Amino acid sequence: MNKLFHQSKEAVLQLVESDGRGLSTTEAQHRLAKNGYNQLEETKSKGVLRVFIEQFADLLVIILIVAAFVSMLTDNAESAIVIFAVIIMNAILGTVQHFKAEKSLKSLQALSAPIAKVLRDGQRMEIPSKEVVVGDILVLEAGDLVVADGRVIDNYSLQVNESSLTGESESVNKLDGVIEEVEVALGDQKNMVFSSSMITYGRALVVVTTTGMQTELGRIAQLMNATKEKKTPLQVSLDDFSKKLSFVIMGICALVFGLSIWRAMPILDAMMFAVALAVAAIPEALSSIVTIVLALGTQKMADEHAIMKNLRAVEGLGCVSVICSDKTGTLTQNKMTVQKIFVDGKIIDKNDVDKNKHTQGFLLRSSVLCNDASTSIGDPTEIALVDFFRKQELDEEEMRRELARIGEIPFDSERKLMSTLHEIDGKYYLLTKGAIDVVMERVDQIHQEEGVRALTDSDREKIEAATLELSSEGLRVLGFVYKEIEEIRELDVKDEFDYCFIGLIAMVDPPREESAQAVADCKRAGIKPVMITGDHKITAKSIATKIGIYETGDLAVEGIELDRMSDDELTAQVEKISVYARVSPEHKIRIVDTWQRKGKIVAMTGDGVNDAPALKKADIGIAMGITGTAVSKDAASMILTDDNFATIIKAVTNGRNIYSNIKNSIKFLLSGNMSGIIAVLYTSIMALPVPFTPVHLLFINLLTDSLPAIAIGMEHSTKDLLAEKPRDTSEGILTKEYLQGIISQGIIIAIPTIGAFYLGLQTSPTVASTMAFATLCMARLFHGFNCRGKRSIFQLGLFTNMSSIYAFLAGMILLNTVLFVPALHSMFNIAELTGMQVGIIYLAAFIPTLLIQLKRIIFSSKTN
Ligand code: ATP
Repeated sequence: MNKLFHQSKEAVLQLVESDGRGLSTTEAQHRLAKNGYNQLEETKSKGVLRVFIEQFADLLVIILIVAAFVSMLTDNAESAIVIFAVIIMNAILGTVQHFKAEKSLKSLQALSAPIAKVLRDGQRMEIPSKEVVVGDILVLEAGDLVVADGRVIDNYSLQVNESSLTGESESVNKLDGVIEEVEVALGDQKNMVFSSSMITYGRALVVVTTTGMQTELGRIAQLMNATKEKKTPLQVSLDDFSKKLSFVIMGICALVFGLSIWRAMPILDAMMFAVALAVAAIPEALSSIVTIVLALGTQKMADEHAIMKNLRAVEGLGCVSVICSDKTGTLTQNKMTVQKIFVDGKIIDKNDVDKNKHTQGFLLRSSVLCNDASTSIGDPTEIALVDFFRKQELDEEEMRRELARIGEIPFDSERKLMSTLHEIDGKYYLLTKGAIDVVMERVDQIHQEEGVRALTDSDREKIEAATLELSSEGLRVLGFVYKEIEEIRELDVKDEFDYCFIGLIAMVDPPREESAQAVADCKRAGIKPVMITGDHKITAKSIATKIGIYETGDLAVEGIELDRMSDDELTAQVEKISVYARVSPEHKIRIVDTWQRKGKIVAMTGDGVNDAPALKKADIGIAMGITGTAVSKDAASMILTDDNFATIIKAVTNGRNIYSNIKNSIKFLLSGNMSGIIAVLYTSIMALPVPFTPVHLLFINLLTDSLPAIAIGMEHSTKDLLAEKPRDTSEGILTKEYLQGIISQGIIIAIPTIGAFYLGLQTSPTVASTMAFATLCMARLFHGFNCRGKRSIFQLGLFTNMSSIYAFLAGMILLNTVLFVPALHSMFNIAELTGMQVGIIYLAAFIPTLLIQLKRIIFSSKTN
């Protein structure tokens, strides 16, 4: 279907078998079944077998295979079987976890999947964009993302940003006629729209000509299909750490091997020592723990109204130090009601309005004529005006029929004005409403009860004083003006001058109930909340003060003031500015940039098409799920399904919690490994027998340790998290303090393990090794509770994380089964134990946890 731009729209419609009024649902379903979904073939997700095999491409597994051979050579075929069995089980577990994480990420992606507006069965409806078929009629409006390629059939000033395909950042004006040339570059096919472009202005109807991989985007996607899943910074740093650690471990293993040989130990025993050490030390699960905990965490966040679009953003959330939030709808309820009006030099309360007075009646009429809303559908500002009109026992529909609209210049948040043209008593009137300061720059007359006259300085002062009074109460003030136009003609923004003033209408948009608490939490968490709004400075300041964003000593700055500030001035002031008023989306980029240059991690909300660049630039771009445009959702890394500021704070807390859970899981794994290393190194240096066989360490590392590690990752967030400062991005996870903790906890667990080993040695080396293994395994299971947080288990609450209890019980059952079922003994290199020995194991294993908990209890009562 080449050169569609060169054909008439009728020809294109015929080609795709559409009549231009939309397909029937049955026909669309038929086409969908025949041609498949409108989506790009993603790099096929790996098959089960491949993921399973990949689990073996690991240093640890290779060492284990060596260990299995050594076991066989030392006449320990059963151990070899156990090693192989454990390797396979580990691979199965790894595979299951891989698919579980993938599934939860896929379900998240589905939550943020784009929708498309189409005409079907003669009606406009919204469908998932992947269900769009060739022949569908797409309804495109400003803020939409184009989801398939198509030919424009009805064009109303459509402007499209095609930068994702052409690299050209300027919007292109579209048309619906035929393009005469035959060879035309993509960017010049002005009667076509292409998948992934953004509608920046106007609207259009488009017939879909290609979908999925057949689109222009699909062609590019084919070229670069092999894009890899990106790892999060934490995963990268842990991978790097694991690699380095593995090298160190290999070095130590070689050393231990040399030492044993030097001491004339038989080669196979020496190898066993070295292998045991390697198995004890290699941290195999670090990166996968991160994925699992992140994936589980994002699921929880989605339940709490924050959809994260990638795992990197989840990690970044904990570092956020500035949150720039829109006012309307995010901090406030976006439910406006008219409170007061101003006409004839007086402020009048909503209950004292008299529709029969000339100016008041005119103001009321203008408020619904220059208005696109009905009582329930539309912009809340305009709905409020319609509601108010009805309260005066007036019927806006009748009014709109009588004085029908014959022209318009739609509202946009840059101009902050809206105008409509009507015929009233045989004359043409342009009615305009808008932001009061913008309106007042364009007025030279005033409409009063007694008639129209020139606007005097005293009138202007009165209007300004009224605006100040109303805005200081946190009310949004709209100005209403009009002018006469000689004849009906195409309207232009240049017409919006030389007006006659009618009056003001002031409305309230109360803060959301939860906003003040959320702002307080935000500040407690060391995060600076900043309000960014298109509203008037005084209104914004008043609301910001009510909810605690603006405090004495802070600054409130307007867009024009911002324009006048140099970069240096802004950098110097930015930390004090907590309110930006009358700003346009471009200002948002500058604000983000200034904070970022100060090394801050910035979260920024946005909903309009023009917000997309700022959302992309912010470290965490946040789009509004309910009111946001598709373009803003596409650019964001987080979507709020309830448009609520409080949800951002909840998400930040969750982000911090996830990070701290990951840290705790890793601490649990590494400190446990450390205790094994210390015990093996100690016995090697002291020329004692091997304390653990590889089977023992495998049992611990791969079976009993993995469940507590995941359970720690599921710990709930506590209020403590908000008392901390945001994490420093430059600070890696493996800080000195963290590593010290790992080493000291490793030592505390290793000591009773070695003690149990010595006691066992009095009987035999196998009893010694059984006791060392059982003590180490159980001590690590107990240690799982220590790693749930920094506080004592009594403060955390033993039963507040039931997963950790289940994980502990599962580990205990597994361990006691191998200890007490004689049939398993030779397989797991276990000796028969006396009751006394078992008692010692339980006691020795509990000592480290007892000590760690006691230290926390004493330490916290001292600091309290
Ligand atoms: P936010 O706080 O999210 O920036 P906002 O609603 O204040 O939202 P805009 O929608 O850009 O921002 O509105 C800017 C200004 O334009 C408002 O303060 C108001 O004075 C004026 N305005 C808003 N809606 C209309 C409208 N429908 N017609 C005319 N003027 C409007």
